[in-house]
Amino acid sequence: MNITRKEFLKAGALITGGILTQGFRYLNTALDEYPGFKLIRDKIGIFIGEGGTIAWYVDKNSVASVDSQYPDSAKKFIEGLKSKADRKIDLHFNTHHHRDHTFGNVVIKEYANKIIAHENCVQFQKLAYGNDADKPQVYANTTFKNTWEESLGNERISARYFGAAHTAGDAVIHFQVSNIAHVGDLVFNKTFPYIDDKGGGSIKEWINTLEKISKFYDNDTQFICGHAASDNLVIHSKKDLDEMLNYFEALINLVMAEIRKGKTREKIGLLSEIPGFANLKERWEGARKLNLERAYDEITGSNEQ
Ligand SMILES: [Zn+2]
Repeated sequence: MNITRKEFLKAGALITGGILTQGFRYLNTALDEYPGFKLIRDKIGIFIGEGGTIAWYVDKNSVASVDSQYPDSAKKFIEGLKSKADRKIDLHFNTHHHRDHTFGNVVIKEYANKIIAHENCVQFQKLAYGNDADKPQVYANTTFKNTWEESLGNERISARYFGAAHTAGDAVIHFQVSNIAHVGDLVFNKTFPYIDDKGGGSIKEWINTLEKISKFYDNDTQFICGHAASDNLVIHSKKDLDEMLNYFEALINLVMAEIRKGKTREKIGLLSEIPGFANLKERWEGARKLNLERAYDEITGSNEQ
């Protein structure tokens, strides 16, 4: 159900007046009155629009957000954010360079004092999209190599690089006090991941990187990922992160065994399931095939430059 701000206020007034039917009461229970907004914990939530999940933090005197989606959905995000905060975004982050995480920067820059990303994120964004005059790019104005950290309101926010994985510029943004970490596309929860080899991504490196992340954060850390099999799975636990790691190991083991049997790249691409991960969903047709072929290429080194 779509409800405008005006209608929401009207509904709130009716609730106060005590004449509204029971069914409407849920609208008054949380901050998530705007479509796509969902509160995770006090002051922190997500926005699901088009592309990678956005995270937001709003306190009395501080606002932070992670990832930008596309210009149209970034506009919707800003509109909703304005209802919670009457100030600019103090700190905005890009988890990596992909279009569905950075193209909305053109909208968000008007409201954000600082955009922070890993140095490779900016390099890859320039390389991949910088020459397209129809799609003007806004790049992060603050970059880091290993770790970036700052206090904001009652929060302490860090951005960390653990190594190549989905791309070679993926950062984990951690709201330390709330213990909530946005991992960008380092996790595709219950769905086949996309490995961007042109953007420095690698399955083998992704396994190493996830091992480091799993050790670094604790069992209470609540994770937010860019993409999942369904909207309710973008907020997840460390168990789901570890499952992603197990998936890559199962994928590599399977493809190695098939290569030993003498199977060709073409035949391997047609395998119908990765053992233990039969329920993994394809968010786009051919995602499993791409994963199998990518594993083949990495193992055989067939596309190394
Ligand atoms: Zn991505």
